[in-house]
Amino acid sequence: MDYLLEQVNDQIDVLAVWDAEWNTYTNAYFIQEDAGLTVVDSCKEGHLEFLRHSLNKIGKTADDVKLMLVTHGHEDHVGGAPLFTKARKVIHADETLPAESFISGELLDRGTIGDYEYTRVGYHSPGSVIFFHRPTRTLFTGDFLCFFGDPLSDGGLVSKGEELRQAWIEFLQCGGVAKVDLPVFLNGLRMMKEYDPDVMCTGHGGVLVGDLDVFLEELITIGDADK
Ligand SMILES: [Zn+2]
Ligand SMILES: [Zn+2]
Repeated sequence: MDYLLEQVNDQIDVLAVWDAEWNTYTNAYFIQEDAGLTVVDSCKEGHLEFLRHSLNKIGKTADDVKLMLVTHGHEDHVGGAPLFTKARKVIHADETLPAESFISGELLDRGTIGDYEYTRVGYHSPGSVIFFHRPTRTLFTGDFLCFFGDPLSDGGLVSKGEELRQAWIEFLQCGGVAKVDLPVFLNGLRMMKEYDPDVMCTGHGGVLVGDLDVFLEELITIGDADK
């Protein structure tokens, strides 16, 4: 099994590539819109074949992608960028990028691009951004909040993901986010909660559906108590 491709909702598909080298699922998302296809993140350079295959499976090609939103500049999120030659590709100005990626560091700390609202959360990397697709109430969190190295939930790739939520709660309880980073992290969680998402699409592994306000509030409460 090299990758999974599943529908998140009517407009969104998730590609989760199994990266044996890093021992984790790494995700990219395809969103079908009137203006064309949008891609959020793009896995590693070595994963181009999986991006091509999965686009093919949803009846598209790389040239159909008109917008590429990049949560942050790590190689497992920008690697597929060269495939999307017809797309406007954007990232926050504070991220460092490979020169040949043709991704523009034009995102501000808060704004709107196409159907997406975005906010810089600045934890995990200086210019880490979350994107909110209001038409489907879907939040793309990149690695700000993700399931790097975790197995998929028993419910599947797109599910409530109870075990994944529990793992994050325990991680935070055990000091997984360093005290020095906690204020920035908590601020990011509050911004996530403000969007009031129905779906949370992360940079690695499970896509969470349902009761996200409860999950986020629980994390905020733990973090607040620990400050
Ligand atoms: Zn990262
Ligand atoms: Zn990552």
